[in-house]
Amino acid sequence: MLKDVKTMILLQEVMFKIKALEDERNATPEKIADQKNEMLQAEEEFTNLSSEFEELKKQRRDLEYELEDEKEKIERSKARLMTIKTNREYFAMLKEIDMTKRMNRQKEEELLELMIRYEEIESRFNSAKERYETLKGKYDGNMEEIKKHMKSFDSDIAKLQKEKDQIAKNLDSNKTKRFEIVFKRRNGIAVVPAKNYICTGCNMNIPPQLFNMIQKEDRLYECPNCSRILYYENDKEREALKG
Ligand SMILES: [Zn+2]
Repeated sequence: MLKDVKTMILLQEVMFKIKALEDERNATPEKIADQKNEMLQAEEEFTNLSSEFEELKKQRRDLEYELEDEKEKIERSKARLMTIKTNREYFAMLKEIDMTKRMNRQKEEELLELMIRYEEIESRFNSAKERYETLKGKYDGNMEEIKKHMKSFDSDIAKLQKEKDQIAKNLDSNKTKRFEIVFKRRNGIAVVPAKNYICTGCNMNIPPQLFNMIQKEDRLYECPNCSRILYYENDKEREALKG
């Protein structure tokens, strides 16, 4: 195998690691932005339901007090019935009691309707609260994790960058430049083995003449289709690379 190819394989490995770290680092704020939006939406839903629930609580309380008052009024009227002397007054009082009772039944129906709505909002409020708290907990935890992670990214990348510079010293600058262009254009894979007349980078056929020349290992060749740098890899060398 050509010395330049060996260097390029090492360069590709370290550059691929750098690229992976950079991609992860760049994607991080976006990942958190989605989570943040989801959390904020849940918060808004929770806040809205919270005020609706509070309003219903107040309505319920008011109605219950009112009913309590009216019931007491009936009890007082009933007690007064005993002290009434004339029939006219007595029947007038009975009529009043009857009217209050009827109004109370109406209020009780109102309360019943209110209770149905109350319970519905209460259960929606509780699940919205739980959802918001779960999302917030998750977001805060991830944020903490990410802050720590972000710090380590930069130092890891810097270390790899040094390693890359060290390796690149073994390659002349034109070849390094050429390699970097293909690396960028081909998503981090710039040097690949040619096997069975096929470029393993793009899986296209390599003309037999070119394949034969690659096997001679006299200089660098590139794939006519994807421009990746091709090398001939025999089994022995593959084993050695793995080790
Ligand atoms: Zn190719």
